[in-house]
Amino acid sequence: MDGLPEISHPAIDIDLRYATADNICGRPIYARAGALLHPDAHAALLRAADLAQAHQLRLRMFDAYRPLAAQHCLWAALPDPDFVADPAQGSTHNRGVAVDLTLTDIGGRPFDMGTGFDDMTPQSHHGRTDVGPSAQRNRAHLLGLMALAGWEHHPYEWWHYNLPAPTRYAIVDDAANVARLMNV
Ligand SMILES: [Zn+2]
Repeated sequence: MDGLPEISHPAIDIDLRYATADNICGRPIYARAGALLHPDAHAALLRAADLAQAHQLRLRMFDAYRPLAAQHCLWAALPDPDFVADPAQGSTHNRGVAVDLTLTDIGGRPFDMGTGFDDMTPQSHHGRTDVGPSAQRNRAHLLGLMALAGWEHHPYEWWHYNLPAPTRYAIVDDAANVARLMNV
């Protein structure tokens, strides 16, 4: 990203689904494929990546900061507050303090999580015992790494984590504030 520090971690892969047509809107809703986060979230993500690396694993990011325009598209596709935040209130992603991600092996092959990312069904909820045992174990592993790194989980989405008390952080929707976010 122009003007932003190039910071990355060897245990993080970026796979932004909203920059492709492979998402619930069925078309690219991000003009760019870079992942941006508030500096506090960026630091917490690097802690999680350090832990993943120590376990000889990697993190694969599906989403980070999400512009409000993208939130409107998601809400139009799925106006269900269990899975998509109403753009009138703004999601934790709009504040730059949320990540959607999964766990992969050291070679970047994603582990079985029982459902895909953005699978808006009850099987995506944490604590389900009707997905396979390996998927339950993999979800618990991701949850453990993220909790140790300071993230809160979302009970309905195994892939979503945000910083605690996210409304402390303002919605980021103008160029000056976007420029203060950090490139993952
Ligand atoms: Zn999310």
